[in-house]
Amino acid sequence: MAAELISGTQIRQTILKELGKDVEAMRQKYGKVPGLVTILVGDNPASVSYVTLKVRTALELGFHEIQDSQPADISEEALLALIARYNADPDIHGILVQLPLPPHIDATKVLYAIDPDKDVDGFHPLNLGRLLIGGDAVRFLPCTPAGIQELLVRSNTPLEGAEVVVVGRSNIVGKPLAVMLGQKGPGANATVTLAHTRTRNLADHCRRADVLVVAAGVPGLVKTDWIKPGATVIDVGVNRIGFNPETGKAILSGDVDFERAKEVAGKITPVPGGVGPMTIAMLMKNTVRSAWSYLEQR
Ligand code: NAP
Repeated sequence: MAAELISGTQIRQTILKELGKDVEAMRQKYGKVPGLVTILVGDNPASVSYVTLKVRTALELGFHEIQDSQPADISEEALLALIARYNADPDIHGILVQLPLPPHIDATKVLYAIDPDKDVDGFHPLNLGRLLIGGDAVRFLPCTPAGIQELLVRSNTPLEGAEVVVVGRSNIVGKPLAVMLGQKGPGANATVTLAHTRTRNLADHCRRADVLVVAAGVPGLVKTDWIKPGATVIDVGVNRIGFNPETGKAILSGDVDFERAKEVAGKITPVPGGVGPMTIAMLMKNTVRSAWSYLEQR
């Protein structure tokens, strides 16, 4: 039987609609809207396209949006000064620096310079520390793991007591997601295994999973017989496996063989159209949350 499709594209639309109402409520109550600045250094084509999507979504939601494009040769000092200016700007509630940065700039130094209260990407160590503590301590969840959790919750995937296997332990996806799904609380309470390249018998771990999240960046890593029948499979991988000369676009594949896996899984995300669309929606959600919190504390 074919699996139920978890459509990130559809769930994203629902979330953006909810956020649109939230922005309107903020405008009514405070006469203010969320402010987001997206800082782009240089003109890396992939970064330009990500930033364009973020800016477009922010504008559609009625945010005060600043796209701040800086030349590739901006000095680290000048970039840090720019961030300090936005940290002090009361109309900016979220600061996003598009990665990667040119090699002469220390990306860690730049990300750590962002005011943790405006760190809507959720990469600042203070926010990652809060994430580890959980509960009321949490301020901003990193966007891709937050999007994955939303996909699971909104597709009514049971997490309480579930065996979750996360393949990949990066700081931006696997590691925070493993912590989030293992927390005490709603949309979590799972028993989580975090797998990586040194994991022995990866296939056996995957076969135990009620929920299998794959974020390795290896096309076709998860074979069909690694999937427990009826399991929920979230494929985070985005791999460029070719080029379509007719459309002029890259051919994308996840880390799971979707066509075969959907015959075994209970629910599955496609690539593209699964996790990808959720990441920007979560960035917007973090910015709205930041703006509410700022306005309510004044
Ligand atoms: P990353 O930093 O390259 O980390 C990959 C992780 O996967 C590492 O922990 C690595 O283990 C593990 N891994 C790699 N090959 C493996 C294998 N054969 N068996 C078991 N584990 C393996 O990757 P990332 O930044 O998290 O991204 C992962 C994938 O998700 C990429 O395809 C990326 O494009 C995609 N992604 C998508 C979104 C989205 O919005 N859709 C967002 C972020 C990332 P070690 O730690 O042992 O090296």
